[in-house]
Amino acid sequence: MKIVMLGAPGAGKGTQAKMIASKYGIPHISTGDIFRANIKEGTELGKKAKAFMDQGALVPDELTLELIMDRFKQADCANGYVLDGFPRTIPQAEALTKALSDEGGKLDYAINVEVPDENIVNRMSGRRACLSCGGTYHVVFNAPKKEGVCDACGGELVLRDDDKPETVAKRLDVYHTQTQPLIDYYAGQGILKEVDGTKEVAEVFGDITAILDK
Ligand code: ADP
Ligand code: AMP
Repeated sequence: MKIVMLGAPGAGKGTQAKMIASKYGIPHISTGDIFRANIKEGTELGKKAKAFMDQGALVPDELTLELIMDRFKQADCANGYVLDGFPRTIPQAEALTKALSDEGGKLDYAINVEVPDENIVNRMSGRRACLSCGGTYHVVFNAPKKEGVCDACGGELVLRDDDKPETVAKRLDVYHTQTQPLIDYYAGQGILKEVDGTKEVAEVFGDITAILDK
């Protein structure tokens, strides 16, 4: 099963993608997590990506595509994947469609997690991320057992630099201009499914599994 998660930054794509990955036994691939891991390791790619991410801008398509096409070659992608944060532009979506069709394949679902902008700022200012394993929490809606510590790996939880309010506004702007057009793109392919992302985490997941299990 090959799934793309769509939605604004902070809509809950990563939260749901992790649950989908675990239930259906497919890898969760987050380009944001891969960029952050590269920044942490101090790689060349990380250095290049950081400059864009800190501004709330997108990393150029060329860099992002190189990274994701490389990731698809790994053995765990054989039975599909759930993509989170990729594609984010029409050229990225077109490159993905082409790469899949060259192998005689296609995406099965594009799931749009809908959350209005006014809820997003709250979600992102309360988000805490584990820099070790990519785990995501929220200080109110999904608090870790121990404040500041990742339940899964014991790593330190931090407020991402790009979740600061001044950057969130820019990221929402970038989402509306560059990423939202993907909703129509995937509607045109007949694979778009919409879920209400303002519900509780478990309820949103129930709505998604109802779609995937049909
Ligand atoms: P995205 O991957 O779309 O950027 P995340 O999955 O990281 O979003 O979620 C953003 C923040 O909102 C996190 O702090 C997460 O714990 C919280 N969150 C996710 N889903 C919900 C939900 N349904 N209700 C309330 N908070 C949520
Ligand atoms: P995320 O973790 O998905 O919120 O992504 C964090 C940041 O990483 C984004 O604001 C972008 O700067 C960058 N990024 C992640 N995925 C992509 C992508 N597919 N294309 C371009 N930039 C991306």
